Amino acid sequence: AGRLFIVPTPIGNLADISSRAIDVLSAVDIIAAEDTRHSSRLLSHCDIPTKTISLHDHNEAARSKQLVELLQKGSDVALISDAGTPLISDPGYVFVRDCREFGIKVISLPGPCALTTALSASGLPTDKFMFHGFLPVKQAAKAKALEALNNSGYTTVFYEAPRRIRDTVMACAANLQTDHEIVLAKELSKAFETYIQGSAEHVLAWLEQDPNHQKGEFVLMIYCPNNLQTGEISQGALDLLKLVSAELP
Ligand code: SAM
Repeated sequence: AGRLFIVPTPIGNLADISSRAIDVLSAVDIIAAEDTRHSSRLLSHCDIPTKTISLHDHNEAARSKQLVELLQKGSDVALISDAGTPLISDPGYVFVRDCREFGIKVISLPGPCALTTALSASGLPTDKFMFHGFLPVKQAAKAKALEALNNSGYTTVFYEAPRRIRDTVMACAANLQTDHEIVLAKELSKAFETYIQGSAEHVLAWLEQDPNHQKGEFVLMIYCPNNLQTGEISQGALDLLKLVSAELP
């Protein structure tokens, strides 16, 4: 049978594609890409002639079936997304799950990812961290998700869209305990890569200083120290207990 290769692609700087990624993308029979037009730029930049097929949130189940059949017949397939590591806030979960179910070998190449790139440079604790993808858009749900970070004792990493970054940092100011620390990473691996660190109020003031500060791609990292005495229970744990106890007979 063929193999599925998960291949990370650059998150801004084309030089970050690995030579192994180029070799694999050139050697496979077909590349499943989130947006084939978007990826054609990278592929032609790297002189990769391999045929592409789309695999995105709206066709993943059907496409996965088709690709699993190809894999079973012996074709090698690579999966890429528009930027960074596939499946990390990107499509591919259904496909990888199907491949594993059918016993197809899945090989994941290490490579660019905004999450790990930002976190490792943040100066926030990295021994335990949580990746939360994108926050809910609705205000109440967003406030609740942020509030749950209080006294967590670990760093939480979010992706955020430029049109929401100001609103989200405002919600941080309103819902986080005062000793939180924020690091906002912007335009990673690009010419205007920037890290802003401090309180939500400080980061908000920076965003509002210049309209250009709100443009680009952002990773928002929040560390909330745990101030609870041992024995006290955090709000997140209490919420969980409430949920669990509702299920008990
Ligand atoms: N799969 C990608 C990865 O491995 O990081 C993430 C895809 S997700 C749809 C896109 C989000 O990732 C952006 O909205 C932004 O929050 C974050 N992101 C991607 N590239 C970035 C960059 N160069 N700088 C900062 N954040 C970035």
